[in-house]
Amino acid sequence: MAKTTRRQPAKANRSDFDLLAEIAGNLWWSWNPRATALLASVYPPAYAASDQNPVTALRKLPARRRRQLAADADFSREVRAVHAELRKYLRSQPWYAQKHGKSARGVTAYFCMEYAVHESLPLYAGGLGVLAGDHLKSASDLGLPFVAIGIYWKKGYTRQRIDKHGRQTDRFPTLAPRDTPLVELKGKSGRPLRLTVVMGKDKVKARAWRMDVGRVPLYLLDTDIPENKARDRRLTHVLYSGDRDTRIRQEILLGIGGWQLLRALGTKVACCHLNEGHAAFLSLERIAERMTQKRESLGAATRYVTNTSVFTTHTPVPAGNEEFDPALVDRYFAAWPKRVGLTREEFHDLARVKAGNAEENFGMTPLALRTSKYANGVAALHGKIAREMWKPLWPGRPVTKVPIGHVTNGVHTLTWMHPRMVELLDEFLGDDWADAQDQAATWAHCKYIPDDVLWDLHQQFKEELIAFCRKRVRAQITRSKLTGMKPADADRILDPDALTIGFARRFAPYKRATLCFRDAARLAKILNDRHRPVQIIFAGKAHPADAGGKAIIEELMRQARAPRFRRRIVFLEDYEMDVARHMVAGVDVWLNNPERPREASGTSGMKPALHGGLNLSILDGWWPEGCNGRNGWAIGKGRDHDGTKAADDRDAADLYRLLEKEVVPAYYSRDRHGLPGAWLARMKNALMTIPPVFNTHRQVKEYLAKYYAPAMRNA
Ligand SMILES: *Cc1c(COP(=O)(O)O)cnc(C)c1O
Repeated sequence: MAKTTRRQPAKANRSDFDLLAEIAGNLWWSWNPRATALLASVYPPAYAASDQNPVTALRKLPARRRRQLAADADFSREVRAVHAELRKYLRSQPWYAQKHGKSARGVTAYFCMEYAVHESLPLYAGGLGVLAGDHLKSASDLGLPFVAIGIYWKKGYTRQRIDKHGRQTDRFPTLAPRDTPLVELKGKSGRPLRLTVVMGKDKVKARAWRMDVGRVPLYLLDTDIPENKARDRRLTHVLYSGDRDTRIRQEILLGIGGWQLLRALGTKVACCHLNEGHAAFLSLERIAERMTQKRESLGAATRYVTNTSVFTTHTPVPAGNEEFDPALVDRYFAAWPKRVGLTREEFHDLARVKAGNAEENFGMTPLALRTSKYANGVAALHGKIAREMWKPLWPGRPVTKVPIGHVTNGVHTLTWMHPRMVELLDEFLGDDWADAQDQAATWAHCKYIPDDVLWDLHQQFKEELIAFCRKRVRAQITRSKLTGMKPADADRILDPDALTIGFARRFAPYKRATLCFRDAARLAKILNDRHRPVQIIFAGKAHPADAGGKAIIEELMRQARAPRFRRRIVFLEDYEMDVARHMVAGVDVWLNNPERPREASGTSGMKPALHGGLNLSILDGWWPEGCNGRNGWAIGKGRDHDGTKAADDRDAADLYRLLEKEVVPAYYSRDRHGLPGAWLARMKNALMTIPPVFNTHRQVKEYLAKYYAPAMRNA
């Protein structure tokens, strides 16, 4: 008797850790606040030191802590409750099944170079990855028949550090499989799956991993295996790295290797979504395959592939549209025209804007557009710009008839919303609000949140953000010995009662991170007003090879250290999802000042709105659709940037004017309870008007209705 009672808890506890490993093994935990809190509590020191990585925390769990948890009945109950929630999530009948029943035709396969699912898996560089990660999460929540293909970038993307001179340095730490929830895929024989991807004269081997994002499997290709030559092993080390030859091989791996993987897994694919042009070689592979296997003509095979392909273009910036030297393409695709019965010229015409133009490079965007019946930009304005930009592909057609539509981007609400904001909305919008997040009626109830409740919560988020900044900046200064700053300076930065502006994004030059310094004296006056102070928190990485972007960071660091700015301007190094989450919860205003119309969508401004943050932005990307005059401000009256310095001056002047005349006075106008009544009305307006539209549930449903469903019917 005594023996069994002693033994039983031990047995139960052993399986508690199995359950924990199962929870950590599905990225669902990252958008379930209760699961996140549970995993964070297992072994906080290792969790915090590893980009909030629950797999690492479990791996490093010391025996003592393990015994302590094993004896903790509350902990055990919580593990079981969260595990039951995960199981329920995976088994429930989601929206898609209720609405469309079982999908008989097959899945949508989504191809993307980068995915930002959680900061512990740094397989992304910026907005494209964030969008892809958020898309998968909503596809999972809604239950779409969906799989995703990407690459396991073992050294990720740059982990930015700022050196003592205020310059960006780049590190690429290795993300070992044991610190990920990735599971290596096995072939039919039960041995690890190996693909052979032909790259010109070489045969490159690849393995594949599976990462569960809720219900959606994300398959990640990886060439870093002993069978490969050193050069091919490095192919999947660093995202967006390497010379042109490396890049084309990476894209062959994604498009062609990705398709081979789906074949090896026996996945029935009804629709392919090419998220950016990087994966466009996929279409070539599918066409040739149909001709060989189904004995279809080139015309029939091309029609089939085109009718089942969706392509999303993500940038109007020419350099963002991938292209290759034709000779480089010939090195890898000399056999392809012969396989399908085309001449070399006819083949290259597929990827040219103008047929027969030998001056043109091989463009991945034209190739994707030519082989996808369904194509879109990522905001209404971007759709229009993309139609103008790619109009020459359809000579003779008026621009309005160019077959490129738009689906405006959104964000995955539960990924970006502070857990205590989720709790507040549970109280005022009802427990199921997240399922109905794409309806305005759901958010309309925000008007019942008492002003003082919303303001108190907002102040808490701001204080958390400031504490986070001080800790990070102290560590930054201590490590880098940044000239002109001492570690103790970190405790004097930022003021919880000051109007706080956030600016964070990739430091691509067109985003103009330093625009607000154009008249530095005027900015200093605004920031240092004794009664109405303003402060700005910056973050963002430059691409490691982008000297222009790096120069902007250096300039920003120089300004930020000047005595007039050092308490009011902060640069947080290594912008990633955790930094973003802190910023979007705690700032009052989100600033965005790109050169219009170069920002295709931009999604970061949608995240503060989830907490009532207000946008102060150029009317570019999504903002012309989002701005209603009460949920934020428009800089620059919708003028396009003409590439001149005068245009920068005009936009900067408008920014200063808005700050001086509108934003600062509105923030500091307080009622007799000390509350900013008019500002709170704006916060609630932002909450009621932006999240119901700019969320990925709406976005994914729109892709389904406009593109996936018709493409699947064509399959
Ligand atoms: C939201 C987000 C982005 C995208 O920002 P944009 O404004 O769309 O450029 C990039 N990086 C991180 C870490 C983000 O959270």
